[in-house]
Amino acid sequence: MSLKKYRKKRDFSRTPEPRGKVIQKPEKIFVINKHQATHLHYDFRLEMGGVLKSWAIPKEPPKVKGVKRLAMKVEDHPIDYAEFSGQIPKGQYGGGRVEIWDKGKYILEKKSSQEIVFELRGRRLKGPYALVKFKGQSSNQWLFFKRK
Ligand code: MN
Repeated sequence: MSLKKYRKKRDFSRTPEPRGKVIQKPEKIFVINKHQATHLHYDFRLEMGGVLKSWAIPKEPPKVKGVKRLAMKVEDHPIDYAEFSGQIPKGQYGGGRVEIWDKGKYILEKKSSQEIVFELRGRRLKGPYALVKFKGQSSNQWLFFKRK
């Protein structure tokens, strides 16, 4: 697990985002950022292996079963990104406003190279969710949805 890609994309003398480090702790959290970059999107992040595994979701994450959202895998973010909200300067990577849209604990139920199954305990998103990788397509494309 590494934050190399995350750091390479950013100039920490210009952006208020955390530089971060890899942190391992027993209780796992998730966070969803509402990110008003060039296009508004939501960044879904799961604490895993000492970093926040991250996916960009182009529309609001579903609170109910039956709505599937495309989730593009993006670079791992540091754990302390879960505390970050603010304005990334224009011209910097991801320039625009970052808000915390939801945050809470999560319980991992199953994890393979093709799917991650978990229960979210946030304020907005609660209950059984999954991320499933698209078959036969770009390995960056996943689906995010509520299971029941
Ligand atoms: Mn983003």
